[in-house]
Amino acid sequence: MKLSHRVMEMEESVTLAANARAKALAAEGRDILSLTLGQPDFATPKNIQEAAVASIEDGRASFYTVASGLPELKDAISDYMKQFYGYAVNRNEVVVGTGAKFILYAFFTSVINPGDEVIIPTPCWVSYVDQVKMVEGTPVTFQTTEENHFKATVEQLEAARTDKTKVVLLNSPSNPTGMIYNKEELEAIGNWAVEHDILILADDIYGRLVYNGNTFTPISSLSEAIRKQTIVINGVSKTYAMTGWRVGFAVGDPEIIGAMAKVISQTTSNLTTVSQYAAIEALTGDQSSIEIMRQAFEERLNTIYPLLNEVPGFEAIKPQGAFYLFPNVKKAMEMKGYSDVTEFTTAILEEAEVALVTGAGFGAPENVRLSYATDLDTLKEAVRCLKAFMEK
Ligand code: PMP
Ligand code: GLU
Repeated sequence: MKLSHRVMEMEESVTLAANARAKALAAEGRDILSLTLGQPDFATPKNIQEAAVASIEDGRASFYTVASGLPELKDAISDYMKQFYGYAVNRNEVVVGTGAKFILYAFFTSVINPGDEVIIPTPCWVSYVDQVKMVEGTPVTFQTTEENHFKATVEQLEAARTDKTKVVLLNSPSNPTGMIYNKEELEAIGNWAVEHDILILADDIYGRLVYNGNTFTPISSLSEAIRKQTIVINGVSKTYAMTGWRVGFAVGDPEIIGAMAKVISQTTSNLTTVSQYAAIEALTGDQSSIEIMRQAFEERLNTIYPLLNEVPGFEAIKPQGAFYLFPNVKKAMEMKGYSDVTEFTTAILEEAEVALVTGAGFGAPENVRLSYATDLDTLKEAVRCLKAFMEK
């Protein structure tokens, strides 16, 4: 057999695959409305572009950096932590890499031995489970309930815990559900993790994208003990409209951070230097465009959410953050005679020409995901097409 068992057991990222399929159909001349990718439709703010160009023109971007990232960028991240998490960090507590996605992979490579378990409440973002498998760890998933707004409880976590549990993963605000854990919920989970010496992997990438008065509490800010137990994953892709620059970072225990830097030194060497200069400007420069983009997402959510709930058979809880709607489509599938949500999503693509992501990839067999990181006209038209499809 040519391929490794590791890669044979992996799934391709369903979000990227759904986007590629929508693009391929569009290239054939089909009029596809794509709500697949979680990627802001805005250009990277001008001040960030200019800082990047300057680093190219004056030669700074020509060279490798230290594997873990430029000291100035680590200092900018420390200031960011002080502002949004309430604590600053030392340079040896920060590592920068090629997108939060690769930073997560560097983390799993650094802490997981074959057979170690990572608790991942579902629905969850598509890459966690496969990344854990890639390092021969064991993903332990369980379904959260819609009644509890897709949030894990300590009881559920305790039921999933074994003596092999090494990490618990929390993603708040969540991709795909848009739900946010509150302080009390996080305190309970944090204390449980401390008690059982389980590392908390806090994917906070949507922490700045919260709407309608909802607030984001970082779990690592809750106590010294919880902070010591937590590795924070973050990046600039979503908040600063910088998905293509591939900037991610982790903050936490220096030993783990140092191990992640070692993984980077033997794989990518360092995050592309020009992106590091861009990230410094993103984190330390003018922040006004960030709020403009956040407000645009909020307006889209508030416009599109009621319209989506008018689509027959679609029932969604109103998200608090990120930029996804995650309706339960069980009734819609029944109405149209489908039992498999991936087939249902394909039918929507073929017949309504609206590209969504199947919930199956997120561990949610009754849901589909719509990204509202796209313009309002496209969103309204897509929901109109969905309604027409369901009413046919
Ligand atoms: N975590 C979550 C929950 C995400 O939705 C994404 C989206 N790409 C990432 C991590 C990775 O982001 P990036 O690699 O662009 O930094
Ligand atoms: N995180 C985004 C999404 O869920 C981008 C694609 C990906 O990395 O999965 O759509």
